[in-house]
Amino acid sequence: MEIQWKPNVYENDRGIFAVFPELCKGCGLCIEKCPTDVIHWSKNLAFNGTTTVEPRMEGCIVCGICQTVCPDTAISIYRHDGSNPPAAEPRVTQKTH
Ligand code: SF4
Ligand code: SF4
Repeated sequence: MEIQWKPNVYENDRGIFAVFPELCKGCGLCIEKCPTDVIHWSKNLAFNGTTTVEPRMEGCIVCGICQTVCPDTAISIYRHDGSNPPAAEPRVTQKTH
């Protein structure tokens, strides 16, 4: 038996968003942290029967935050210019003092 890792791939002129339904558990963290609010629930099912996610690529800035925060490495972001997305910054910074 062969396991195939087939991502759902979305693209714009900045880069590529690839999500692997075999890894996504539908936690919604990427939706919560996307700075441009372009990730939403998909009609595609993930491995455990939950829905997976998809982006509206016209608004995706290929920042890579979704890739960084996903606890199951289900998202890969590729930039067409070859640069690597920087480490994720918190969306909201709260002062504690
Ligand atoms: S790369 Fe950035 S803008 Fe694009 S979907 Fe992920 S978090 Fe949102
Ligand atoms: S953060 Fe990862 S596991 Fe959670 S919904 Fe997004 S892609 Fe799926």
